[in-house]
Amino acid sequence: MTHLSFDDRVALVTGAGSGIGRAMAVAFAGAGARVVVCDIDAESAGRTAAGIGDAAVAVTADVSDEASVTALVETAIGAYGRLDVLCNNAGVLDSMALPADIPVAMWERVLRVNLTGTFLVTHAVLPHMLSRGRGAIVNTASEAGVRGGAAGAAYTASKHGVVGLTRSVAWAYAREGIRCNAILPGPTMTGIATNATFDPAGIARLGPVLALGERMAEPERMADAALFLASDAASFVNGAIVPVDGGWSAA
Ligand code: ADP
Repeated sequence: MTHLSFDDRVALVTGAGSGIGRAMAVAFAGAGARVVVCDIDAESAGRTAAGIGDAAVAVTADVSDEASVTALVETAIGAYGRLDVLCNNAGVLDSMALPADIPVAMWERVLRVNLTGTFLVTHAVLPHMLSRGRGAIVNTASEAGVRGGAAGAAYTASKHGVVGLTRSVAWAYAREGIRCNAILPGPTMTGIATNATFDPAGIARLGPVLALGERMAEPERMADAALFLASDAASFVNGAIVPVDGGWSAA
C-alpha cells in the first residue's frame, strides 16, 4: 500500500467541483494528500473542499485565463508550499454539432478550456515540480482523444490535443523526475455527459456496447486510475494513454 500513499504530498485538481475532478480530489485526500480543489464555479469547489475537510483548500480559477492560473498556482504554493501532483481535469463539452454547424466562438472556447487550459496550468506548475525534481501529472483526456465521432469535432480535437501534450510533457521531463500520463474515460456518470447539450439517447445507445457490466462508470473509477498513475506504484509509467472504459474501446 505504501506505493499508493500520498502522505506529505500535495495534489492540485482542476475541475474538482463536480464529477471526475471531485472524485479525484476525494481519492487523493483519502490516500493522505492535501488537495487544492480548483473550479471555475466557486460554490462547487467550496462544497468539494468542505466535504474533504482540513486537508483541502478551495480555489476559484478559470484554467483558460493565464492571470487566473498564475493566481491559482500562487495560492496553492502559498497554502501548502509544494505541488507533487497535478490533475488537469477541467473541461467543457461542445454542442455535438457537425463541423459545418459549430459556431466559431464555441470551437475557440472548447479548445481554450480543454487544451490551452491544460497547457496553462501545466506551464505554471512545472517550475515548482522541476525545482524539487519530482512530480506527476495526470490529464483527463477522453476516448474522443484517440478516435473521432465519439463527440463533437471541437471536443474531439481538443482531447486529441491533450493526448499530444501529454506525450510531449512526458518526453520533455522524464529525466527531471516528472511523469505525465492521461486517462481516457469512457462514458461516465458526470454532469458533462448528462448536461442539456448532450443527447441522452446517444448515452442510452452506448449501453449495450459497454463491456463491463453494461453500465456507465462511476467517476470514482476514473479517480482510481488517476491515483495509480500519480503514485509511486506507477514510477515507470510515463506518457501512457490509459483507457478507463470497462473495455468499451477494445470492442
Ligand atoms: P467531468 O467530471 O466528466 O469532467 P463535469 O462537467 O462534471 O464533467 O466537470 C467538469 C468541471 O470542470 C466542472 O466542475 C466545471 O465547473 C469545471 N470547469 C469547466 N470549465 C472550467 C474552467 N474554465 N476552469 C476551471 N474549471 C472549469
